[in-house]
Amino acid sequence: MKEIIQETEDKNFTILIIDDVPANLKLLSQMLIEQGYTVKCVKSGAMALVTLNINQPDLILLDVNLPDMNGYEICENLKKNEVLQDIPIIFLTVSDDLEYKIRGFQVGGADYITKPFHIQEVIARVNNQIKITRQKRQLRERVDKYQQNQEKLQELALIDPVTGVPNRRCFNEHLEKEWRQHLQERAFLTLIMADIDHFKLYNDTYGHIQGDMCLQTIARTLYDLVNRPGDLVARYGGEEFALVLANTTLEQGEAVARRILEGIKNLAISHPRSPLSDRVTLSLGIAAVVPDVNHEPTILIQRADQALYCAKINGRNGYISFI
Ligand code: GH3
Ligand code: MG
Ligand code: MG
Repeated sequence: MKEIIQETEDKNFTILIIDDVPANLKLLSQMLIEQGYTVKCVKSGAMALVTLNINQPDLILLDVNLPDMNGYEICENLKKNEVLQDIPIIFLTVSDDLEYKIRGFQVGGADYITKPFHIQEVIARVNNQIKITRQKRQLRERVDKYQQNQEKLQELALIDPVTGVPNRRCFNEHLEKEWRQHLQERAFLTLIMADIDHFKLYNDTYGHIQGDMCLQTIARTLYDLVNRPGDLVARYGGEEFALVLANTTLEQGEAVARRILEGIKNLAISHPRSPLSDRVTLSLGIAAVVPDVNHEPTILIQRADQALYCAKINGRNGYISFI
């Protein structure tokens, strides 16, 4: 007995007893209060429904024969109610008749107790239902926590931890999605690959920590400049960013490239050892296509990459379009 009492002490559970006989209510409530439960008593089905709508107990002890309603009907109704359907119900019945017991389970009851009550049996059956309830709740908490963790992990898997912008994996997914969309709409999709000029020299001058800060500043600036619906700024790798421009022609992409070069110039991030300028600069490669079924989205990456390579050869701090 001691063991059973301890099990229920860690949390306060409320039990609603529905029975029209005052002596039964008194006996049951006394015995359950002694067990550490909070007990509420009502004498009719109507009162039970009123009470249940205000506060939900953890367990219901329900007399089968009530003056105003049949216990089985009440149970059936509660099982149809989304808020109340999970509360376990133990039927209180005078009859030891097998049919009564089976009926109780058929309407959704969790257990039954026959009158006259045997204290030990009532306590054992009540504690058992409370134990199941507690286990169910723990399981649900664990599932919720697991789902939250999964969401966090998924988010982490798509965001570059250094710059906070989408990573390459996210970029690939986005490009494929936009490719399909533009294929349907027969619209121009543009990709700009951007690479920081002489960034190795920058790191060598200021160290990696400041190098990371430079990457963050540039990522944020790109993010601010490219944010129309369907657009995406991603860290493609190292000091390279990929910019997806939805519904954008090559000419429009070039205008964006000019804005980017201007924006980065205005940041005026000091780069004293750069042979190009006193500040950090970018080289950009641009490619635009109307997607068709004979090509994969990777063609945009290849073309923008080639254009970027040309921009580097061409002297850096500028853009070249793939034609
Ligand atoms: P180029 O103008 O030809 O692009 O020259 P570059 O020096 O920028 O290119 P290179 O490929 O030689 O060097 C890239 C540098 O970028 C080297 C590497 O240390 C740096 N880099 C790559 N990822 C990170 C990073 O996450 N943090 C920092 N601080 N530096 C990085
Ligand atoms: Mg570089
Ligand atoms: Mg590079």
